[in-house]
Amino acid sequence: MLTSAPPDAASPQIATCRSPDTPHEVTDERFDSLTRLARSHFAVATALIMPFDAGRQWPCASTSVPDGAMSGDGMLVVADTHADECFHHHPLLIEHPWMRFYAGCPLLAADGHTLGVFVLLDDQPRELDDQQREFLRDLARLAAAGVESDRANVQLQADAAALRDREHRMALAIAGSGTGVWDRNVQTGEIHYSSGWKAILGYTDAEIGNRIEDSYQRIHPDDLARVQATIQAHLQGETESYAVEHRIRCKDGHYKWISSRGKVVSRDREGRPLRMIGTTTDITAMHALSERLQQSVDLLTNLTNEVPGLVFQYQRLPTGESLFPYASAGIQAIYEITAEQVAASDALINALIHPNDLPAYRAALDASAASLTPWDLEYRVQLPRQGLRWRHGAAQPRRLKDGSILWHGFITDVTERKRIEAELLEFATTDFLTQLPNRRHLMSQIEAELAHMQRSADHCTAVLMCDLDHFKSINDQWGHATGDLALRHFAGILRAQLRKSDMAGRIGGEEFAVLLRGANLAEAMAFARRVQQQLAQAPLQHGEQCIAMTLSIGVAVLMASDTSVDAALSRSDMALYRAKSSGRNRIECL
Ligand code: GH3
Ligand code: MG
Ligand code: MG
Repeated sequence: MLTSAPPDAASPQIATCRSPDTPHEVTDERFDSLTRLARSHFAVATALIMPFDAGRQWPCASTSVPDGAMSGDGMLVVADTHADECFHHHPLLIEHPWMRFYAGCPLLAADGHTLGVFVLLDDQPRELDDQQREFLRDLARLAAAGVESDRANVQLQADAAALRDREHRMALAIAGSGTGVWDRNVQTGEIHYSSGWKAILGYTDAEIGNRIEDSYQRIHPDDLARVQATIQAHLQGETESYAVEHRIRCKDGHYKWISSRGKVVSRDREGRPLRMIGTTTDITAMHALSERLQQSVDLLTNLTNEVPGLVFQYQRLPTGESLFPYASAGIQAIYEITAEQVAASDALINALIHPNDLPAYRAALDASAASLTPWDLEYRVQLPRQGLRWRHGAAQPRRLKDGSILWHGFITDVTERKRIEAELLEFATTDFLTQLPNRRHLMSQIEAELAHMQRSADHCTAVLMCDLDHFKSINDQWGHATGDLALRHFAGILRAQLRKSDMAGRIGGEEFAVLLRGANLAEAMAFARRVQQQLAQAPLQHGEQCIAMTLSIGVAVLMASDTSVDAALSRSDMALYRAKSSGRNRIECL
């Protein structure tokens, strides 16, 4: 509450309270002169200017006032408060019972809202004529302008303080981020650096010159041309702003990586740059990190590319599509295609897998996906250049959040191993001299056949034991090598008589056994006779000589009741023994 009120001894006192938004003394004096003027003009005891704080009400606004007391513009004149019941309980009167006369004129802001009230108080009842009311309005207008300008001042100061705060915070943020600021006069070549900028390079404020030429000398020689070209392009208006990363020499001579960004902020009428400002950020740590990252990526790429075979990521999407998000350079050797060709779909690879192996290839992947167990498979591929090759795939699956299955694994060329394995298998199952199955292989086949027969009762199979007669004498007469030739010669005759389902093997020196699947005794006897006849008709040619050989054969059929292969073979053996003992070149059966 502002008052001129110099309530002298005769005048009742009003407590002076200063509104919190009252700006300062100068303003107070200005308001004091207005209230003094009002007091003397109206000859009232007290004149007050009461600016409203936020939320505060004009003292009389909430009070019901007598008819005609308040004019259209909000001026309220109460000629005698004692005569008006509405004012009996008003706080102002309770506090100041001497007050008989009240006149209040609102202080209106330019936008129409009420800033406060210009109040006249007196201890005598009185009236205000139109002229006086108009004068009070004028005073209220002057006071309103004052209050408004004070408030604008206060706001301005608050804004300025907030701006200073923001500037301070920004300066702290810039300093904290390892960023320095510079300001360059393009025409004079002068450049000013912030303390933060100098600190990045290890200089104190006074230690560094302000010439642009010096600044170029600090740039790493390998980076200088690139930096100057970038800045030049911007100065010539080719770019909106510029940003360039380069090395810069510090006070102690070592280089730091920085990110320099700048922008011309003013140009002359011809577009020539006048002033450019910018920032410099120390990115040495970030650069070192990205270099290490790049090294890791290079190492990983080199490793996967140098490993013989294909290192891959294979993904099955929830939509059912399959693709290879990553494939190492080895895909060229393994499938004769590029990583790009399978980045979106695995169709090309599926087309290269041998049609006989494709179902197993797919089934193995399905099983791996369903149980999330490793995929491990050997399969054949048919490639345009390499032809038929064997591949071994192994991969570990895992389920991703989106429901995909992602495998990490590798595929290698196992064609050579497969070839060696096949060779070893042949070594292990074939008789070297005759190239017929050896004893062990033939026995396992007879064993499998016995098991098969025991499962299907209507099936019959015969086993023949063959022994060349007096073979020893061939060796004796013609030599061991010729004996070998004789063994091969007989093996050829035997082989020629076999059907696809039959198998003959050499089970000892000059002893052979034959498995005739599906043959009964009569058919087996007929087979035996054919072999004997063929041998008789085709003696071994040895130079000019013919070496005749005869053969004894024992025939037996496998029986479902046989508990082992030996039991069945012993019957063939017994039949053979009988053939031998009955004079040789014979067929006997049991
Ligand atoms: P038998 O009519 O009673 O069967 O008389 P055999 O002479 O055929 O039978 P024996 O068991 O007395 O002799 C078998 C001969 O077969 C003796 C052995 O030197 C010969 N022999 C065994 N394996 C080979 C071989 O790999 N090469 C050669 N050349 N001879 C072999
Ligand atoms: Mg023998
Ligand atoms: Mg013999």
